[in-house]
Amino acid sequence: MHEQAEEHKPDETGGLLLGYWANDTEAVLTEVIGPGPDARHWPTGFAPDAAYQEARLADEYERSGRRIEYLGDWHTHPGAAAVPSRNDKGTLRRIARDPEARCARPFMLIMGERERWQLTAWTVKPHWRWRLAVGPARLRAFEPV
Ligand SMILES: [Zn+2]
Repeated sequence: MHEQAEEHKPDETGGLLLGYWANDTEAVLTEVIGPGPDARHWPTGFAPDAAYQEARLADEYERSGRRIEYLGDWHTHPGAAAVPSRNDKGTLRRIARDPEARCARPFMLIMGERERWQLTAWTVKPHWRWRLAVGPARLRAFEPV
C-alpha cells in the first residue's frame, strides 16, 4: 500500500482488502489488491480497474477453498488527513447494505499523508434504529505466538 501510495501521489489510489473472519469480532487481512492496470487516478479520487479486481478476488476465493473473501477497501489521501470524508462514510454504509457485496461489516483503510503516511481503519456499527454509524476499527499486526 505504501509503495502504491508513493507511486501515484499526488493522485489518489486504492484497492480491495481480502481475508477472512477468524471469529465474530476479528477479521484477518490476507491480501491487499491494488487499483489494477487500467485504473484512472486524480488528486481527489480514482476509478479502479473493476475487471482486474473482480478477477483477483475470484482467484483468491477459489485458491483458498472459498475461505478468503472481500473485507473492504483501502485508499489514499495524498497531502491530507487519514480521516473518512463524507463520501467515504457513504461508501462504507452503502457496501454494508449492498446484498451483492456480501459484506455486512466492511472495513475501510485510509492512508493519509501529513509529514509521512499514516494508516487508519474504519468500519460500520449499528446505530440508532436502522442506521449505521462509521467509527474507528481496531487494527493490529500479527503477534508472534
Ligand atoms: Zn477518502
